[in-house]
Amino acid sequence: MRPPVYMDYHATTPVDPRVLEAMLPYFSEKFGNASSRQHSFGWMAEEGVESARVVVARSLGCEPKEIIFTAGATEGNNLALKGVAEAYRAKGDHIITVQTEHKSVLDTCKKLEKSGLKVTFLGVDEFGVVDPADVRSAITPKTILVSVMTANNEIGTIQDITAIGAICRERDVVLHTDATQAVGKIPIDVNAMKVDLLSLSGHKVYGPKGIGALFIRNKNPRVALAAQTDGGGHERGLRSGTLNVPGIVGLGAALGLAASSRDEEYERTKRYRDRMLMALTRGLDEVYLNGHPASRLPNNLNLSFVRVDENALMMSMKDVAVSTGSACSSSTPEPSHVLRALRLPAARVSSAIRFGLGRMTTEEEVDYVIDRVLTEVRRLRSHAPAMKVASAV
Ligand SMILES: *Cc1c(COP(=O)(O)O)cnc(C)c1O
Repeated sequence: MRPPVYMDYHATTPVDPRVLEAMLPYFSEKFGNASSRQHSFGWMAEEGVESARVVVARSLGCEPKEIIFTAGATEGNNLALKGVAEAYRAKGDHIITVQTEHKSVLDTCKKLEKSGLKVTFLGVDEFGVVDPADVRSAITPKTILVSVMTANNEIGTIQDITAIGAICRERDVVLHTDATQAVGKIPIDVNAMKVDLLSLSGHKVYGPKGIGALFIRNKNPRVALAAQTDGGGHERGLRSGTLNVPGIVGLGAALGLAASSRDEEYERTKRYRDRMLMALTRGLDEVYLNGHPASRLPNNLNLSFVRVDENALMMSMKDVAVSTGSACSSSTPEPSHVLRALRLPAARVSSAIRFGLGRMTTEEEVDYVIDRVLTEVRRLRSHAPAMKVASAV
């Protein structure tokens, strides 16, 4: 029996051993509270936090003081959206986002809608791309915020944030991007992209779970944000609560590693991903790629195996960790909101598997997974009723 193959790197990643090593002293000998200004225990912890802040800032092209630490991207997205909605209430009450966003953006927007704000949920094309022209025409004098993710967690589609940023800057509207899947994989520069708020998460970049960061533009223009957690005034009053020092140190270490390995990892995961795509589309008929063929994350492969039920396929490959349409809401059996937004035929939505490759993926694992998928799709299809074929696509 071989150990199971992990191909679900969009859901989470293992902590890189070098990240763990950097974190370990901060659980024990350097355990101080980073806010304790009176003694060396506090200073040591604070030094760890501030060094990490410098690394995080460098990875986004911003100043360290423009970074605050959060418990992850869900919290970062909540703070960005709710914080802008509250701080800009006098200016306007309209938010623009996209149907394919992560639930932590969509559900936050729905809650803001209930509290009286107006939200436009823009549609996307068949590849999951939002047209910057649609963003432009949705902006009204009452628009205070646009939130568009940099790269999608299900289908890997990369949005043209630079074009959207130029439009938002011209119209004086704050732009937030959820860059959780993009950070560490593609170059990010908040100034070149004209982004005002950016959320990221540690556990998607080989750092620990429960830590993340939010970039908040401090000048040209300065972005106002209303705190959503009150207390001791940590993180410039925007996020009270004792800092997760080991987590912050781990996030810094993870983003430091990502900066040096990103280009090599991009090439390697893309090569493995393309090899899988080639082998599976050659070996099987009625296999469809979901998401944009070119403007996509190097490590994402989302495929529909028409005439195969996604759950049946996943259950038949228990030694391969992948996910169906939507991992983040897989406790609810409804089909993926992302695939639905592409307006794909039902047969493609119900047969979609997301493969996520990563730093630890080996060529041998890639070949093993190709072989398992070919075998199981052929086996499941041989049992499928033939009458379904005609109506499948
Ligand atoms: C994982 C993910 C999140 C949530 O991040 P957490 O740190 O787990 O809260 C948000 N957005 C995207 C695009 C993600 O992939």
